[in-house]
Amino acid sequence: MIDQPKHKNYQLESKGYQIRPSIKQPESVAIIGGGIASACLAYALTKKQIAVTLYCKDAEIAQGASSNHVGALFPLIHQQVDEISLFYQQAFWHALKCYQGLHNKGYTFSHDWCGLLEISYKIVLEKRQGIFEQSSPWPEELITSVNAEQASVLAGITLKHGGLFMPNAGWIAPAELVQQLFSAAAATQYLTIKNRTDVTALHQQSDRSWQLETTKGPINEEVVIFCGGAESIKLNIIDELPLTSVRGQITTMATNDHIKNLSTVICHKGYLTPAHQQQHCIGATFEKNSFDITATNAGDQYNLTMLEKCLPKLIPWSEQDITSSKARLRCMTPDHLPMVGAMPNITKHKKVYAHLAKDKNWRYQEPAPVIKNLYILTGLGARGLCSAPLLADILAADLTGGEYPIGKQELFNLSPNRFIIRDIIRRKFL
Ligand SMILES: Cc1cc2nc3c(=O)[nH]c(=O)nc-3n(C[C@H](O)[C@H](O)[C@H](O)COP(=O)(O)OP(=O)(O)OC[C@H]3O[C@@H](n4cnc5c(N)ncnc54)[C@H](O)[C@@H]3O)c2cc1C
Repeated sequence: MIDQPKHKNYQLESKGYQIRPSIKQPESVAIIGGGIASACLAYALTKKQIAVTLYCKDAEIAQGASSNHVGALFPLIHQQVDEISLFYQQAFWHALKCYQGLHNKGYTFSHDWCGLLEISYKIVLEKRQGIFEQSSPWPEELITSVNAEQASVLAGITLKHGGLFMPNAGWIAPAELVQQLFSAAAATQYLTIKNRTDVTALHQQSDRSWQLETTKGPINEEVVIFCGGAESIKLNIIDELPLTSVRGQITTMATNDHIKNLSTVICHKGYLTPAHQQQHCIGATFEKNSFDITATNAGDQYNLTMLEKCLPKLIPWSEQDITSSKARLRCMTPDHLPMVGAMPNITKHKKVYAHLAKDKNWRYQEPAPVIKNLYILTGLGARGLCSAPLLADILAADLTGGEYPIGKQELFNLSPNRFIIRDIIRRKFL
């Protein structure tokens, strides 16, 4: 495992728009959510004795994207060291530590750190694997190349291809994990959960606190944190962020003698998980700009066809073996990194940093204009199980003035105002 450096005085060297606004630690906050993002955040904040009220529109928590039967915990790693890979490898170790720590405290959830195999099922992936073999910038405990024979031993079934193996990755039952994170947060006595409370609008008051318009009537809160995922990207104010929804459907399949011994998660174009409660998850579809969470036959067909195409004749599954299907929404950002931090005041950004359109290196001292008392933790895309604990600790550091677990450039890569800064530099508003 790679030790992560601590970053304390990074603000001294930053450009103004990279500086994270410091605030007086709030005694209480409101979180809009109910999934893994809000669960990790509630856990992180209540441990620091900040009272959290969670507003969730559903009758129970973990009904959105975090409700799948099984999800894979693994980082997004490219063959070169880039911003995305660096973030996800840090997030991955952070998540493992957080989840294992939770489990060790007695908050148990179904999981198996059984490893994950990215199968090189086509030539372009074999070439990629070759590059990893010759000069991988990553340690073997993160990702390593294996041939077909080794892959078959690791997977417990015969595979025709080798691939890239992540020995510490695995699978988790996300809804159970979310439940346990909230239970651990509730044990601090600092958590209140308000279910069936749909936040339909945000209104800032003259004292900069918030009035939430909800299906249970108006509610006043001082500090609000949006962890609502894709379902609420059209909420006012939040709708100014470049967030999109990508629908995904997974299909659960009954196990059989061909696949029951599968002992690692397999990723191809989609994924296939080991048996949990006699079922395997296959998926997932990827449908941009859809908000429809009705599972369809076409979605199941797609998942079965994709599996057969990438791993032909591996498992003789047909539609009769389907045990359930579920469609939910991924919340995506344009650069595939999540968003965490203060909500930027976009109109003021355009004015304050206008000169960046002429000189992108202009060293502005002015701190980023933000919408006071509103924070964002969203855009977790297709890797929320991996990224949520690190993002939660970053936001906890924002709110408590604590040490950040990552460096200043990496923090800016996750900051919600990065997009407006990039747009100004690209002269989008001239
Ligand atoms: C098909 C599919 C497969 C996936 N597989 C994996 C995987 O294998 N590994 C992985 O790491 N990730 C996977 N993901 C992605 C992962 O599920 C998400 O990144 C993660 O669940 C996002 O968590 P979240 O808390 O941000 O959002 P959600 O889990 O969607 O939670 C949002 C919550 O906010 C509540 N809410 C929303 N709006 C409001 C409002 N206005 N008022 C009150 N409450 C509100 C909702 O009720 C919900 O509880 C998958 C996603 C899909 C769709």
